[in-house]
Amino acid sequence: MNRDKYFKLFNALKKFIPEERIYTDELRRLAYGTDASFYRLTPQIVVKVKNKKEAKFVIEQCAYFETPITFRSAGTSLSGQALSDSVLMLVDRGWREFEISEDASSITMSPGLIGGHANFHLNKFQKRLGPDPASINSAMIAGIVSNNASGMTSGIEVNSYNTLVGLEIILADGSILDTTNKKSREDFAASHPELIEGISRIANKIKGNEQLRQRIVNKFSIKNTTGYSVNAFVNFNDPIDIIAHLMVGSEGTLAFLSKIKMRVIDNPPQKASTMIFFPSVEDACSAIPQLKRLPVNAAEIMDRQALRSVEDKDGMPELIKELPASSTALLIETSAFNSNDLRSNIEAIENSLKDEKILAKMEFTSKPNEYNKLWNVRKGLFPSVCNSRPVGTSVIIEDVNFKTQDLAAAALDLQGLFKDYGFENTIIFGHALSGNLHFVLTVDFSDPNQLNNYENFMEELTSLVVKKYDGSLKAEHGTGRNMAPFVKLEWGEEIYSIMKEIKELFDSKKL
Ligand SMILES: Cc1cc2nc3c(=O)[nH]c(=O)nc-3n(C[C@H](O)[C@H](O)[C@H](O)COP(=O)(O)OP(=O)(O)OC[C@H]3O[C@@H](n4cnc5c(N)ncnc54)[C@H](O)[C@@H]3O)c2cc1C
Repeated sequence: MNRDKYFKLFNALKKFIPEERIYTDELRRLAYGTDASFYRLTPQIVVKVKNKKEAKFVIEQCAYFETPITFRSAGTSLSGQALSDSVLMLVDRGWREFEISEDASSITMSPGLIGGHANFHLNKFQKRLGPDPASINSAMIAGIVSNNASGMTSGIEVNSYNTLVGLEIILADGSILDTTNKKSREDFAASHPELIEGISRIANKIKGNEQLRQRIVNKFSIKNTTGYSVNAFVNFNDPIDIIAHLMVGSEGTLAFLSKIKMRVIDNPPQKASTMIFFPSVEDACSAIPQLKRLPVNAAEIMDRQALRSVEDKDGMPELIKELPASSTALLIETSAFNSNDLRSNIEAIENSLKDEKILAKMEFTSKPNEYNKLWNVRKGLFPSVCNSRPVGTSVIIEDVNFKTQDLAAAALDLQGLFKDYGFENTIIFGHALSGNLHFVLTVDFSDPNQLNNYENFMEELTSLVVKKYDGSLKAEHGTGRNMAPFVKLEWGEEIYSIMKEIKELFDSKKL
């Protein structure tokens, strides 16, 4: 650690950023050494920026002093990607201006706007953001886009990538590109010929190789946030549009997002939910293809362990405590613009599932005070496991995705794997409608045996997801630190080296 370099950088930052927003004291550096994951890294300097000029200045100074910089918005990332042992640049909570377009079809946001706040303002137009992570009341829009977050209802159709209109970015050399502005696009193309050329070269390589192109299309037919969004090379022709979409899911490794414009989606006001209990995980998963054809916004799976962890929470049906050992629930939501349509939706769902093996009568509620309780319990699953973990253990949440036709077999394989490695208390939950499963396990990393066991588990898990099912190691949480060593395993040598080429193109020395 070159302390002298950080001292010089601190003195340089002070010339433009008020000193009370540059933290070098041990306590605050330690406090910012955590995000919502189990990782800890202590930054040397934490600096809070309130606007584009400040962000540009800090980025330029870090490039000048050749010092790594990491960005952070709300810090709710689950795998350590909002952490740094160098410079951590925070988006100030006050940096949250927004503008809704006149026809309410899109919203332009500053990076620090909290997703839930955007939705509060959009709700007046019966609209909302496409991505809907369970953390939306804390997560900021820059973090949502940088992780390519999706959530319970968004699937891939309206995730961050597919609802992005354009953005303003600050690159490692301090240059600014606003992809929504014609002049900015032209000026940028003229000032950065090597980057544009590099992006075009990769695009031609992918488009000229049908096997490679198809591989990318297939991989992104399900949720995927492992590595970079290389689908940008397939979906867009203009290098500037490719650059814009490469930012989604790039976890702050390519540029800083200083403004984000997104298409918004309908938010019908009438909603109804029910929790359906199936005798087994296979029965629950086999209902998914049917539910996908119905007016169902979300189908959240919770296995027996997950149900057990929340059975005492307010609003949970009493019968959960009596359910058999392998039972599995789907919490589903449907919505409509009026109560007649809502009724029809409910009837369609009830009729369609009437021959399924279900343990108790399906009862929809359209009362917000009742269905909100169910959804709050679902959203609180992960924090509730964190609270009840054995002392000394760390909580790891993972986020894999399978094709929905493979979901049942894959869920059973996962349960088998947890048993083999002694993680019997692991809970499985997630966005089953998209084939996205989360699991939460606890490990004491100070115990060498547990560490070794975890390492072996990860090898077997990644091999299962990639080799047996051709699934995604990361569906929506961003690659993060736990899966970073397995990006090559998932994508193979050729696409992995394209991802490395992308990173090199955006490095300050190349710009
Ligand atoms: C309880 C809980 C539930 C969750 N549920 C979901 C879920 O359902 N679905 C889901 O997808 N995710 C979920 N998450 C994960 C996480 O909340 C989301 O990924 C969220 O979008 C991250 O937003 P953030 O503002 O906290 O970003 P941060 O964690 O601060 O940052 C995320 C990434 O973006 C980068 N970054 C931050 N700001 C910028 C910027 N201005 N420019 C460039 N890069 C930047 C960071 O370096 C980091 O790599 C959940 C997390 C928790 C704790």
